[in-house]
Amino acid sequence: MKLNNGRYTIDGVDVLELAENFDTPIYVYSAEKMHDQFKTLQEAFPGVKLGLHYACKALSNINVLKLMKSFGTGLDAVSIQEVWLGLKAGFEPSEILYTPNGVSMDEIEMAINEGVKINIDNISILEQFGAKYGNKVPVCIRVNPHIMAGGNTKISTGHIDSKFGISYYQLRHVERVVKLYDINVEGLHMHTGSDILDAEVFLRGAELLFEAAAGFKDLRYMDFGSGFKVAYKENDITTNIKDIGNKIAERFKKFCSEYGRELELWFEPGKFLVSESGFFLVKTNVVKQTTSTMFAGVDSGLNHLIRPMLYDAYHHITNVSNPQGVERIYAVVGYICETDTFGWDRKLNEVREGDILAFHNAGAYGFSMASNYNSRFRPAEVLILDGKAHLIRKRETIQDILNNQIELNF
Ligand SMILES: *Cc1c(COP(=O)(O)O)cnc(C)c1O
Repeated sequence: MKLNNGRYTIDGVDVLELAENFDTPIYVYSAEKMHDQFKTLQEAFPGVKLGLHYACKALSNINVLKLMKSFGTGLDAVSIQEVWLGLKAGFEPSEILYTPNGVSMDEIEMAINEGVKINIDNISILEQFGAKYGNKVPVCIRVNPHIMAGGNTKISTGHIDSKFGISYYQLRHVERVVKLYDINVEGLHMHTGSDILDAEVFLRGAELLFEAAAGFKDLRYMDFGSGFKVAYKENDITTNIKDIGNKIAERFKKFCSEYGRELELWFEPGKFLVSESGFFLVKTNVVKQTTSTMFAGVDSGLNHLIRPMLYDAYHHITNVSNPQGVERIYAVVGYICETDTFGWDRKLNEVREGDILAFHNAGAYGFSMASNYNSRFRPAEVLILDGKAHLIRKRETIQDILNNQIELNF
């Protein structure tokens, strides 16, 4: 978002006009920013065969999927429904990696029937899979290296108490199952969470996967998941992609030469590709001074952007309507009948009722985690493509709330 002559714009499109034309609350995404992020990753791992699978749970609008497809990414799907979405968006089955957690064999079979790549994350399913498919369908195995990513157990998935993946310490057991059923393991996978700060953490997990690779002779790729950070606050430490990229590429090439074959290096970024491309625009309904606090109450809440309440996530907020206003301190809150505080003690240009506020970093886990709680409509979505704003999801109506409800006659 840029400020020029007193007006904020996104890729040249006036933000207040967006709010006016499409109404609020609304998610706005910049296709250009997504492409920039994609390029950054694509160029960060010199000299290796890189495979990027967009983790579509971050933002799953079909147009965003099509955009990623046009960039040349594959898709990381965590549910059969995301697999279907990906196929609908035009991905080839072979471009989709299905990485579920805790699903039934039935759902895995549905994915196999769609022809997508399968990532297995527990030994029970691996045994059932082996008994039924043997070496007919190649698989990837999700390993939990027990590396603590960041310090937040809410978003870290690789620690010792995590439900994700097959423990690194159980790999001997895995090797036995693989041998018994002649399972074709074509990939090893780890995803340690969403908060990896430096190359060292990444590489520690990678070393364990490299060690594990010795037990699997038919590997084609190694998937290091995601965890690429983006800046939410000013001065936030972000994953230094170039640094990480160089180090990992070097280490990976060395591993490949020891392993005896050139494997593909895969990642599944979600947040990195879409977070910063997104803005969430809301309107200020009320400004309310209490004894202790100045509240700005907006036409949204935890039903539309739950990360601040769920993860204590920080989303920077800008008063788009009053760039020259004096700065004052606000608590920005939602309209849901729960405590739904977006941010405490935020320094905003004076907020007046009717002002449009913009939440930054709203591309990832914004709309995709939205709900109809309080029977509110979910927001509309707009994609800015080649300098033009396109509505890519219309606002809901009361019919959407009633859909699938079966009204009894009594
Ligand atoms: C959520 C998820 C990702 C993406 O994580 P980000 O932090 O959004 O990049 C990648 N892989 C798997 C298996 C996931 O569950």
